[in-house]
Amino acid sequence: MPTKTPVTLIPGDGIGPECVEAARRIIEAAGVPLEWEIAEAGAEVFKKGLPSGVPAETMDSIARTRVALKGPLETPVGFGEKSANVTLRKLYETYANVRPVREMPGVTTPYSGRGIDLVMVRENVEDLYAGIEYMQTPGVAQALKLISDKGCEKIARFAFEYARSEGRTKVACATKANIMKLSEGTLKRVFERVAPDYPEIEPWHVIVDNAAHQLVKRPEQFEVIVTTNMNGDILSDLSSALIGGLGFAPSANIGNDVAIFEAVHGSAPKYAGKNVINPTAVILSGVLMLRYLGHFEQASAIEHAIFVTLESGVLTGDVLGYDRGTPTTEYTDAIIGNLGKRSATWTVRDVRPLQLPKIDPAPDYVKATTRAVVGLDVFVESPMTAAELGASLMELTHDTRLSLKMISSRGTKVFPPTGALTESGDHFRCRFIIKEAPGDLPDEDVNQLLARISRRHSWMHIEKLQEFDGELGFTRDQGEN
Ligand code: NAP
Repeated sequence: MPTKTPVTLIPGDGIGPECVEAARRIIEAAGVPLEWEIAEAGAEVFKKGLPSGVPAETMDSIARTRVALKGPLETPVGFGEKSANVTLRKLYETYANVRPVREMPGVTTPYSGRGIDLVMVRENVEDLYAGIEYMQTPGVAQALKLISDKGCEKIARFAFEYARSEGRTKVACATKANIMKLSEGTLKRVFERVAPDYPEIEPWHVIVDNAAHQLVKRPEQFEVIVTTNMNGDILSDLSSALIGGLGFAPSANIGNDVAIFEAVHGSAPKYAGKNVINPTAVILSGVLMLRYLGHFEQASAIEHAIFVTLESGVLTGDVLGYDRGTPTTEYTDAIIGNLGKRSATWTVRDVRPLQLPKIDPAPDYVKATTRAVVGLDVFVESPMTAAELGASLMELTHDTRLSLKMISSRGTKVFPPTGALTESGDHFRCRFIIKEAPGDLPDEDVNQLLARISRRHSWMHIEKLQEFDGELGFTRDQGEN
Protein backbone atom coordinates (compact mmCIF):
# COMPACT_ATOMS: atom_id res chain seq x y z
CA MET A 1 0.00 0.00 0.00
CA PRO A 2 1.45 3.43 -0.92
CA THR A 3 1.71 5.89 1.96
CA LYS A 4 -1.24 8.23 1.93
CA THR A 5 -0.56 11.99 1.78
CA PRO A 6 -2.56 13.87 4.43
CA VAL A 7 -4.61 16.78 3.08
CA THR A 8 -6.83 19.15 5.06
CA LEU A 9 -10.33 19.24 3.56
CA ILE A 10 -12.51 22.24 4.43
CA PRO A 11 -16.08 21.76 3.08
CA GLY A 12 -16.90 25.45 3.67
CA ASP A 13 -20.23 27.24 3.44
CA GLY A 14 -23.21 27.42 1.07
CA ILE A 15 -22.47 25.35 -2.04
CA GLY A 16 -19.02 24.52 -0.63
CA PRO A 17 -19.82 21.05 0.78
CA GLU A 18 -21.41 19.93 -2.54
CA CYS A 19 -18.43 21.14 -4.61
CA VAL A 20 -15.84 19.73 -2.22
CA GLU A 21 -17.63 16.37 -2.05
CA ALA A 22 -17.61 16.18 -5.86
CA ALA A 23 -13.87 16.88 -5.94
CA ARG A 24 -13.16 14.37 -3.16
CA ARG A 25 -15.14 11.59 -4.88
CA ILE A 26 -13.39 12.16 -8.21
CA ILE A 27 -9.91 12.31 -6.67
CA GLU A 28 -10.61 9.07 -4.78
CA ALA A 29 -12.01 7.41 -7.92
CA ALA A 30 -8.81 8.40 -9.76
CA GLY A 31 -6.92 6.34 -7.19
CA VAL A 32 -4.89 9.11 -5.55
CA PRO A 33 -3.60 7.95 -2.16
CA LEU A 34 -4.74 10.88 -0.01
CA GLU A 35 -5.83 10.90 3.60
CA TRP A 36 -8.40 13.63 4.21
CA GLU A 37 -8.45 15.55 7.49
CA ILE A 38 -11.89 17.17 7.54
CA ALA A 39 -11.70 20.61 9.14
CA GLU A 40 -14.09 23.45 9.87
CA ALA A 41 -13.92 27.15 8.98
CA GLY A 42 -16.34 29.92 8.01
CA ALA A 43 -19.90 30.85 8.95
CA GLU A 44 -20.56 28.25 11.66
CA VAL A 45 -17.27 29.13 13.34
CA PHE A 46 -18.09 32.85 13.29
CA LYS A 47 -21.47 32.04 14.83
CA LYS A 48 -19.70 30.25 17.70
CA GLY A 49 -18.03 33.60 18.42
CA LEU A 50 -14.55 33.04 16.96
CA PRO A 51 -13.72 36.32 15.17
CA SER A 52 -11.10 34.79 12.82
CA GLY A 53 -13.55 32.16 11.47
CA VAL A 54 -10.74 29.59 11.61
CA PRO A 55 -10.56 27.35 14.74
CA ALA A 56 -7.25 26.23 16.26
CA GLU A 57 -7.90 22.59 15.20
CA THR A 58 -8.11 23.68 11.54
CA MET A 59 -4.91 25.70 11.86
CA ASP A 60 -3.22 22.71 13.51
CA SER A 61 -4.38 20.45 10.69
CA ILE A 62 -3.01 22.80 7.98
CA ALA A 63 0.24 23.26 9.91
CA ARG A 64 0.54 19.46 9.89
CA THR A 65 -0.57 18.63 6.34
CA ARG A 66 0.68 21.87 4.70
CA VAL A 67 -1.92 21.36 1.97
CA ALA A 68 -5.63 22.19 2.02
CA LEU A 69 -8.52 21.86 -0.42
CA LYS A 70 -11.27 24.18 0.66
CA GLY A 71 -14.77 25.18 -0.25
CA PRO A 72 -15.80 28.85 -0.24
CA LEU A 73 -16.22 30.54 3.11
CA GLU A 74 -18.88 33.11 3.80
CA THR A 75 -17.98 36.31 5.58
CA PRO A 76 -21.22 36.84 7.53
CA VAL A 77 -22.22 40.44 8.09
CA GLY A 78 -22.55 41.05 11.80
CA PHE A 79 -20.26 38.18 12.90
CA GLY A 80 -16.49 38.51 13.21
CA GLU A 81 -14.35 41.22 11.74
CA LYS A 82 -12.15 39.49 9.19
CA SER A 83 -12.73 37.25 6.21
CA ALA A 84 -11.77 33.66 7.11
CA ASN A 85 -10.39 33.33 3.55
CA VAL A 86 -8.08 36.29 3.98
CA THR A 87 -7.08 34.98 7.43
CA LEU A 88 -6.02 31.66 5.91
CA ARG A 89 -4.10 33.26 3.03
CA LYS A 90 -2.24 35.68 5.28
CA LEU A 91 -1.62 33.27 8.15
CA TYR A 92 0.42 30.96 5.96
CA GLU A 93 2.02 33.68 3.76
CA THR A 94 0.58 32.10 0.61
CA TYR A 95 2.05 34.89 -1.48
CA ALA A 96 1.12 33.54 -4.91
CA ASN A 97 -2.46 33.33 -6.07
CA VAL A 98 -2.63 31.28 -9.25
CA ARG A 99 -5.77 31.48 -11.36
CA PRO A 100 -5.77 29.51 -14.62
CA VAL A 101 -8.35 30.55 -17.20
CA ARG A 102 -8.96 28.13 -20.04
CA GLU A 103 -11.66 27.71 -22.66
CA MET A 104 -13.74 24.60 -21.93
CA PRO A 105 -15.23 22.24 -24.52
CA GLY A 106 -19.00 22.53 -24.89
CA VAL A 107 -19.17 25.79 -22.93
CA THR A 108 -20.19 28.36 -25.51
CA THR A 109 -19.12 31.95 -24.93
CA PRO A 110 -18.51 34.91 -27.26
CA TYR A 111 -14.85 33.81 -27.19
CA SER A 112 -15.38 30.13 -28.09
CA GLY A 113 -12.80 28.84 -30.54
CA ARG A 114 -10.23 31.51 -29.72
CA GLY A 115 -8.16 29.16 -27.55
CA ILE A 116 -8.03 31.20 -24.35
CA ASP A 117 -5.52 29.48 -22.07
CA LEU A 118 -3.83 31.82 -19.63
CA VAL A 119 -2.75 31.90 -16.01
CA MET A 120 -3.12 34.93 -13.78
CA VAL A 121 -0.43 35.05 -11.08
CA ARG A 122 -1.57 37.56 -8.49
CA GLU A 123 0.49 38.74 -5.53
CA ASN A 124 -1.60 37.66 -2.57
CA VAL A 125 -0.46 39.36 0.64
CA GLU A 126 0.79 42.91 -0.03
CA ASP A 127 -0.59 46.02 -1.77
CA LEU A 128 -3.77 47.87 -0.83
CA TYR A 129 -5.33 44.60 0.40
CA ALA A 130 -3.13 44.74 3.50
CA GLY A 131 -6.10 46.89 4.57
CA ILE A 132 -4.09 49.60 6.37
CA GLU A 133 -6.43 52.56 6.22
CA TYR A 134 -6.93 55.82 8.06
CA MET A 135 -9.40 58.69 8.09
CA GLN A 136 -6.88 61.55 8.05
CA THR A 137 -9.58 64.18 8.37
CA PRO A 138 -13.31 63.53 8.92
CA GLY A 139 -13.72 63.66 5.14
CA VAL A 140 -10.44 62.32 3.72
CA ALA A 141 -9.43 58.64 3.79
CA GLN A 142 -6.00 57.15 3.18
CA ALA A 143 -5.10 53.55 2.25
CA LEU A 144 -1.48 52.41 2.33
CA LYS A 145 -0.25 50.56 -0.72
CA LEU A 146 2.78 48.68 0.59
CA ILE A 147 4.83 46.87 -2.04
CA SER A 148 8.18 45.32 -1.14
CA ASP A 149 11.11 44.50 -3.39
CA LYS A 150 11.24 41.08 -1.74
CA GLY A 151 7.51 40.46 -2.28
CA CYS A 152 7.93 41.42 -5.93
CA GLU A 153 10.94 39.16 -6.37
CA LYS A 154 8.97 36.25 -4.91
CA ILE A 155 5.95 36.75 -7.16
CA ALA A 156 7.94 37.60 -10.30
CA ARG A 157 10.16 34.53 -9.94
CA PHE A 158 7.12 32.43 -9.07
CA ALA A 159 5.43 33.52 -12.32
CA PHE A 160 8.49 32.54 -14.38
CA GLU A 161 8.82 29.22 -12.50
CA TYR A 162 5.12 28.51 -13.03
CA ALA A 163 5.47 29.30 -16.75
CA ARG A 164 8.50 26.99 -16.90
CA SER A 165 6.62 24.14 -15.16
CA GLU A 166 3.85 24.34 -17.77
CA GLY A 167 6.17 24.89 -20.75
CA ARG A 168 4.77 28.34 -21.43
CA THR A 169 6.79 30.79 -23.51
CA LYS A 170 5.71 34.31 -22.46
CA VAL A 171 5.12 36.11 -19.15
CA ALA A 172 3.46 39.53 -19.11
CA CYS A 173 3.89 41.84 -16.14
CA ALA A 174 0.86 44.11 -15.74
CA THR A 175 1.45 47.24 -13.62
CA LYS A 176 0.50 50.89 -13.28
CA ALA A 177 4.21 51.83 -13.08
CA ASN A 178 3.64 54.81 -15.37
CA ILE A 179 1.72 56.57 -12.57
CA MET A 180 2.76 54.81 -9.34
CA LYS A 181 6.46 54.79 -10.13
CA LEU A 182 7.64 53.64 -6.72
CA SER A 183 5.00 51.09 -5.64
CA GLU A 184 3.78 49.54 -8.92
CA GLY A 185 7.16 50.50 -10.40
CA THR A 186 8.88 48.12 -7.97
CA LEU A 187 7.15 45.11 -9.54
CA LYS A 188 8.11 46.29 -13.04
CA ARG A 189 11.76 46.88 -12.07
CA VAL A 190 12.08 43.58 -10.20
CA PHE A 191 10.35 41.69 -13.03
CA GLU A 192 12.87 43.14 -15.50
CA ARG A 193 15.72 42.33 -13.10
CA VAL A 194 14.84 38.64 -12.72
CA ALA A 195 13.66 37.96 -16.30
CA PRO A 196 17.18 37.20 -17.67
CA ASP A 197 17.35 34.20 -15.29
CA TYR A 198 14.62 32.60 -17.45
CA PRO A 199 16.08 33.03 -20.95
CA GLU A 200 13.64 30.62 -22.62
CA ILE A 201 10.66 32.77 -21.56
CA GLU A 202 9.80 36.06 -23.27
CA PRO A 203 9.07 38.81 -20.71
CA TRP A 204 6.93 41.81 -21.56
CA HIS A 205 5.39 44.66 -19.65
CA VAL A 206 1.85 45.88 -20.19
CA ILE A 207 0.19 48.82 -18.43
CA VAL A 208 -2.61 47.31 -16.39
CA ASP A 209 -5.50 49.28 -17.91
CA ASN A 210 -4.34 48.20 -21.34
CA ALA A 211 -4.08 44.64 -19.98
CA ALA A 212 -7.83 44.82 -19.19
CA HIS A 213 -8.50 46.14 -22.68
CA GLN A 214 -6.32 43.49 -24.32
CA LEU A 215 -7.92 40.72 -22.23
CA VAL A 216 -11.31 41.60 -23.67
CA LYS A 217 -10.05 42.31 -27.18
CA ARG A 218 -7.45 39.58 -27.76
CA PRO A 219 -7.21 37.33 -24.66
CA GLU A 220 -5.51 34.53 -26.59
CA GLN A 221 -2.28 36.60 -26.75
CA PHE A 222 -1.64 36.03 -23.02
CA GLU A 223 0.01 32.96 -21.48
CA VAL A 224 0.95 34.08 -17.96
CA ILE A 225 0.21 37.47 -16.39
CA VAL A 226 1.90 38.51 -13.15
CA THR A 227 0.47 41.48 -11.29
CA THR A 228 -0.06 43.15 -7.94
CA ASN A 229 -2.81 42.11 -5.54
CA MET A 230 -5.68 44.45 -6.40
CA ASN A 231 -4.95 44.53 -10.14
CA GLY A 232 -4.87 40.73 -10.08
CA ASP A 233 -8.16 40.51 -8.25
CA ILE A 234 -9.90 42.59 -10.90
CA LEU A 235 -8.16 41.10 -13.95
CA SER A 236 -8.72 37.51 -12.83
CA ASP A 237 -12.48 37.93 -12.34
CA LEU A 238 -12.64 39.60 -15.73
CA SER A 239 -10.72 36.66 -17.23
CA SER A 240 -13.01 34.04 -15.61
CA ALA A 241 -15.98 35.64 -17.34
CA LEU A 242 -14.32 35.10 -20.75
CA ILE A 243 -14.48 31.31 -20.44
CA GLY A 244 -17.97 30.81 -19.05
CA GLY A 245 -17.94 32.17 -15.54
CA LEU A 246 -16.98 31.34 -11.99
CA GLY A 247 -18.13 27.71 -12.21
CA PHE A 248 -14.96 27.01 -14.23
CA ALA A 249 -12.40 29.14 -12.38
CA PRO A 250 -10.00 27.27 -10.07
CA SER A 251 -7.25 28.77 -7.96
CA ALA A 252 -4.28 27.97 -5.79
CA ASN A 253 -2.77 30.02 -2.96
CA ILE A 254 0.85 28.95 -2.75
CA GLY A 255 3.50 29.87 -0.19
CA ASN A 256 6.85 28.44 0.78
CA ASP A 257 5.32 26.23 3.47
CA VAL A 258 1.61 25.82 2.78
CA ALA A 259 -0.64 25.67 -0.28
CA ILE A 260 -4.42 26.15 -0.21
CA PHE A 261 -6.54 25.21 -3.21
CA GLU A 262 -10.02 26.65 -3.75
CA ALA A 263 -12.42 27.87 -6.42
CA VAL A 264 -12.44 31.57 -7.24
CA HIS A 265 -16.19 31.65 -6.55
CA GLY A 266 -17.94 32.19 -3.24
CA SER A 267 -20.59 30.23 -1.35
CA ALA A 268 -23.48 31.20 -3.72
CA PRO A 269 -25.97 30.67 -0.83
CA LYS A 270 -29.08 30.75 -3.00
CA TYR A 271 -28.03 27.45 -4.64
CA ALA A 272 -26.87 25.71 -1.43
CA GLY A 273 -28.20 22.17 -0.98
CA LYS A 274 -30.10 22.21 -4.30
CA ASN A 275 -27.74 19.88 -6.17
CA VAL A 276 -27.63 22.26 -9.15
CA ILE A 277 -24.27 24.02 -9.00
CA ASN A 278 -21.22 23.51 -11.13
CA PRO A 279 -18.44 21.83 -9.09
CA THR A 280 -15.82 22.10 -11.90
CA ALA A 281 -13.94 25.03 -10.34
CA VAL A 282 -13.32 23.08 -7.12
CA ILE A 283 -12.53 19.88 -9.06
CA LEU A 284 -9.98 21.80 -11.17
CA SER A 285 -8.57 23.30 -7.95
CA GLY A 286 -8.12 19.68 -6.87
CA VAL A 287 -6.28 19.03 -10.15
CA LEU A 288 -3.92 21.91 -9.34
CA MET A 289 -3.43 20.37 -5.89
CA LEU A 290 -2.62 16.94 -7.31
CA ARG A 291 0.05 18.47 -9.58
CA TYR A 292 1.46 20.41 -6.61
CA LEU A 293 1.68 17.08 -4.73
CA GLY A 294 3.32 15.36 -7.72
CA HIS A 295 0.35 13.19 -8.81
CA PHE A 296 0.69 14.26 -12.45
CA GLU A 297 -0.91 11.21 -14.07
CA GLN A 298 -4.06 11.29 -11.98
CA ALA A 299 -4.33 15.08 -12.45
CA SER A 300 -4.23 14.64 -16.23
CA ALA A 301 -6.72 11.77 -16.05
CA ILE A 302 -9.22 13.95 -14.16
CA GLU A 303 -8.73 16.87 -16.55
CA HIS A 304 -9.33 14.57 -19.54
CA ALA A 305 -12.44 13.13 -17.85
CA ILE A 306 -13.82 16.66 -17.34
CA PHE A 307 -13.20 17.50 -21.01
CA VAL A 308 -14.82 14.25 -22.20
CA THR A 309 -17.84 14.90 -19.96
CA LEU A 310 -18.32 18.46 -21.23
CA GLU A 311 -17.78 17.35 -24.84
CA SER A 312 -20.56 14.77 -24.41
CA GLY A 313 -22.98 17.59 -23.57
CA VAL A 314 -23.26 16.82 -19.85
CA LEU A 315 -23.40 20.36 -18.50
CA THR A 316 -24.60 22.00 -15.29
CA GLY A 317 -27.32 24.61 -14.83
CA ASP A 318 -24.99 27.63 -14.93
CA VAL A 319 -24.28 26.74 -18.59
CA LEU A 320 -27.62 25.30 -19.78
CA GLY A 321 -30.07 27.10 -17.49
CA TYR A 322 -31.03 25.75 -14.06
CA ASP A 323 -34.21 24.05 -15.37
CA ARG A 324 -32.19 21.98 -17.87
CA GLY A 325 -28.77 21.42 -16.30
CA THR A 326 -27.39 18.08 -15.09
CA PRO A 327 -27.54 17.85 -11.27
CA THR A 328 -24.20 18.24 -9.47
CA THR A 329 -24.08 14.61 -8.29
CA GLU A 330 -24.87 13.21 -11.76
CA TYR A 331 -22.30 15.51 -13.35
CA THR A 332 -19.77 14.16 -10.83
CA ASP A 333 -20.79 10.57 -11.61
CA ALA A 334 -20.30 11.29 -15.33
CA ILE A 335 -16.76 12.55 -14.73
CA ILE A 336 -15.98 9.47 -12.63
CA GLY A 337 -17.40 7.31 -15.42
CA ASN A 338 -15.11 9.04 -17.92
CA LEU A 339 -11.91 8.51 -15.93
CA GLY A 340 -9.48 6.69 -18.20
CA LYS A 341 -10.93 8.21 -21.38
CA ARG A 342 -8.96 10.85 -23.30
CA SER A 343 -10.42 13.86 -25.02
CA ALA A 344 -9.90 13.63 -28.77
CA THR A 345 -10.04 17.38 -29.28
CA TRP A 346 -8.77 18.99 -26.07
CA THR A 347 -5.15 18.66 -24.95
CA VAL A 348 -3.92 18.42 -21.40
CA ARG A 349 -0.66 20.17 -20.61
CA ASP A 350 2.44 18.21 -19.82
CA VAL A 351 3.23 19.74 -16.42
CA ARG A 352 6.59 19.43 -14.66
CA PRO A 353 7.14 19.90 -10.91
CA LEU A 354 6.96 23.55 -9.86
CA GLN A 355 10.18 24.90 -8.32
CA LEU A 356 9.34 27.45 -5.67
CA PRO A 357 11.78 30.39 -5.83
CA LYS A 358 14.44 30.46 -3.14
CA ILE A 359 14.53 33.97 -1.75
CA ASP A 360 16.99 35.30 0.83
CA PRO A 361 15.03 35.45 4.13
CA ALA A 362 16.91 38.54 5.37
CA PRO A 363 14.40 41.10 6.70
CA ASP A 364 16.47 44.02 5.33
CA TYR A 365 16.33 42.51 1.88
CA VAL A 366 17.51 45.65 0.07
CA LYS A 367 20.48 47.27 1.72
CA ALA A 368 21.42 50.89 0.95
CA THR A 369 25.06 51.95 1.13
CA THR A 370 24.20 55.60 1.59
CA ARG A 371 21.05 57.24 2.87
CA ALA A 372 20.08 60.83 3.53
CA VAL A 373 17.08 62.69 4.91
CA VAL A 374 16.40 65.81 2.84
CA GLY A 375 13.12 67.02 4.29
CA LEU A 376 9.78 66.26 5.89
CA ASP A 377 6.22 66.09 4.58
CA VAL A 378 3.69 67.18 7.19
CA PHE A 379 0.03 66.39 6.50
CA VAL A 380 -2.19 69.14 7.89
CA GLU A 381 -5.95 69.43 8.34
CA SER A 382 -7.05 73.02 7.72
CA PRO A 383 -10.13 74.89 6.49
CA MET A 384 -7.89 77.70 5.16
CA THR A 385 -7.13 78.35 1.52
CA ALA A 386 -3.75 77.09 0.30
CA ALA A 387 -2.47 80.67 0.09
CA GLU A 388 -3.52 81.42 3.70
CA LEU A 389 -2.07 78.17 4.98
CA GLY A 390 1.20 78.72 3.08
CA ALA A 391 1.63 82.25 4.45
CA SER A 392 0.86 81.05 7.98
CA LEU A 393 3.29 78.09 7.83
CA MET A 394 6.09 80.27 6.43
CA GLU A 395 5.63 82.74 9.24
CA LEU A 396 5.53 80.01 11.91
CA THR A 397 8.58 78.09 10.68
CA HIS A 398 10.89 80.75 9.16
CA ASP A 399 13.59 80.35 11.85
CA THR A 400 13.61 76.51 11.94
CA ARG A 401 16.06 74.24 10.03
CA LEU A 402 13.39 73.51 7.42
CA SER A 403 11.69 75.75 4.89
CA LEU A 404 8.29 75.28 3.29
CA LYS A 405 8.85 74.26 -0.33
CA MET A 406 5.29 73.67 -1.41
CA ILE A 407 1.80 72.53 -0.39
CA SER A 408 -0.23 70.03 -2.36
CA SER A 409 -3.85 68.97 -2.36
CA ARG A 410 -4.42 65.32 -3.33
CA GLY A 411 -1.11 65.26 -5.20
CA THR A 412 -1.37 68.60 -7.04
CA LYS A 413 0.74 71.58 -6.02
CA VAL A 414 -1.47 74.42 -4.76
CA PHE A 415 1.15 76.64 -3.04
CA PRO A 416 3.03 78.63 -4.25
CA PRO A 417 0.15 79.16 -6.69
CA THR A 418 0.52 77.63 -10.14
CA GLY A 419 -2.58 79.07 -11.80
CA ALA A 420 -4.19 75.59 -11.78
CA LEU A 421 -7.90 75.50 -10.88
CA THR A 422 -7.41 72.83 -8.19
CA GLU A 423 -10.23 72.52 -5.70
CA SER A 424 -8.62 72.00 -2.28
CA GLY A 425 -10.33 70.31 0.67
CA ASP A 426 -9.24 70.41 4.29
CA HIS A 427 -6.31 68.02 3.71
CA PHE A 428 -2.90 69.37 2.70
CA ARG A 429 0.54 67.88 2.30
CA CYS A 430 3.10 70.47 3.32
CA ARG A 431 6.61 69.75 2.05
CA PHE A 432 9.49 71.11 4.13
CA ILE A 433 13.07 70.87 2.86
CA ILE A 434 16.23 71.07 5.00
CA LYS A 435 17.76 74.49 4.27
CA GLU A 436 21.42 73.63 4.74
CA ALA A 437 23.46 70.42 4.99
CA PRO A 438 20.73 67.84 4.25
CA GLY A 439 21.52 64.27 5.22
CA ASP A 440 20.28 63.99 8.75
CA LEU A 441 17.16 65.26 10.47
CA PRO A 442 17.44 64.83 14.24
CA ASP A 443 14.24 64.39 16.24
CA GLU A 444 14.74 67.82 17.88
CA ASP A 445 14.40 69.50 14.47
CA VAL A 446 11.28 67.48 13.68
CA ASN A 447 9.79 68.24 17.10
CA GLN A 448 10.55 71.96 16.76
CA LEU A 449 8.87 72.11 13.35
CA LEU A 450 5.79 70.23 14.54
CA ALA A 451 5.52 72.36 17.69
CA ARG A 452 5.58 75.51 15.56
CA ILE A 453 2.92 74.13 13.17
CA SER A 454 0.75 73.06 16.12
CA ARG A 455 0.53 76.64 17.37
CA ARG A 456 -2.12 77.31 14.74
CA HIS A 457 -2.77 74.12 12.80
CA SER A 458 -3.62 70.44 13.24
CA TRP A 459 -1.25 67.89 11.71
CA MET A 460 -2.10 64.16 11.60
CA HIS A 461 0.79 62.50 9.76
CA ILE A 462 4.46 63.04 8.90
CA GLU A 463 6.74 61.32 6.42
CA LYS A 464 10.52 61.72 6.17
CA LEU A 465 11.81 62.54 2.70
CA GLN A 466 14.69 60.12 2.20
CA GLU A 467 17.24 59.28 -0.46
CA PHE A 468 18.77 55.81 -0.73
CA ASP A 469 22.04 55.47 -2.66
CA GLY A 470 21.38 58.89 -4.20
CA GLU A 471 17.92 57.91 -5.53
CA LEU A 472 14.86 59.89 -4.42
CA GLY A 473 12.73 57.79 -2.07
CA PHE A 474 9.63 59.90 -2.66
CA THR A 475 7.64 61.23 -5.56
CA ARG A 476 7.25 64.83 -6.65
CA ASP A 477 3.76 66.26 -6.95
CA GLN A 478 2.04 67.37 -10.12
CA GLY A 479 3.48 70.84 -10.70
CA GLU A 480 6.44 70.43 -8.30
CA ASN A 481 9.99 70.88 -9.63
P1 NAP B 1 -20.48 33.90 -5.37
O1 NAP B 1 -20.79 33.05 -4.21
O2 NAP B 1 -19.25 33.57 -6.14
O3 NAP B 1 -21.74 33.84 -6.32
C1 NAP B 1 -21.98 34.79 -7.34
C2 NAP B 1 -22.71 34.13 -8.51
O4 NAP B 1 -21.78 33.38 -9.27
C3 NAP B 1 -23.79 33.11 -8.15
O5 NAP B 1 -24.97 33.72 -7.80
C4 NAP B 1 -23.85 32.32 -9.44
O6 NAP B 1 -24.37 33.13 -10.48
C5 NAP B 1 -22.40 32.21 -9.80
N1 NAP B 1 -21.70 31.02 -9.24
C6 NAP B 1 -20.71 31.03 -8.33
N2 NAP B 1 -20.26 29.80 -8.14
C7 NAP B 1 -20.97 28.99 -8.93
C8 NAP B 1 -20.95 27.59 -9.17
N3 NAP B 1 -20.07 26.78 -8.57
N4 NAP B 1 -21.82 27.08 -10.05
C9 NAP B 1 -22.68 27.88 -10.68
N5 NAP B 1 -22.73 29.22 -10.51
C10 NAP B 1 -21.88 29.76 -9.64
O7 NAP B 1 -20.36 35.44 -4.93
P2 NAP B 1 -21.16 36.29 -3.82
O8 NAP B 1 -22.62 35.99 -3.95
O9 NAP B 1 -20.68 37.66 -4.00
O10 NAP B 1 -20.62 35.76 -2.43
C11 NAP B 1 -21.34 34.86 -1.58
C12 NAP B 1 -20.49 34.62 -0.32
O11 NAP B 1 -19.27 33.98 -0.68
C13 NAP B 1 -20.11 35.89 0.45
O12 NAP B 1 -20.26 35.66 1.83
C14 NAP B 1 -18.65 36.11 0.12
O13 NAP B 1 -17.95 36.75 1.16
C15 NAP B 1 -18.18 34.66 -0.06
N6 NAP B 1 -16.99 34.51 -0.94
C16 NAP B 1 -16.07 33.59 -0.58
C17 NAP B 1 -14.98 33.35 -1.39
C18 NAP B 1 -13.98 32.31 -0.97
O14 NAP B 1 -14.26 31.55 -0.08
N7 NAP B 1 -12.80 32.27 -1.57
C19 NAP B 1 -14.84 34.02 -2.60
C20 NAP B 1 -15.83 34.95 -2.98
C21 NAP B 1 -16.92 35.18 -2.13
P3 NAP B 1 -25.88 33.16 -11.00
O15 NAP B 1 -26.70 33.64 -9.86
O16 NAP B 1 -25.81 34.12 -12.13
O17 NAP B 1 -26.23 31.78 -11.42
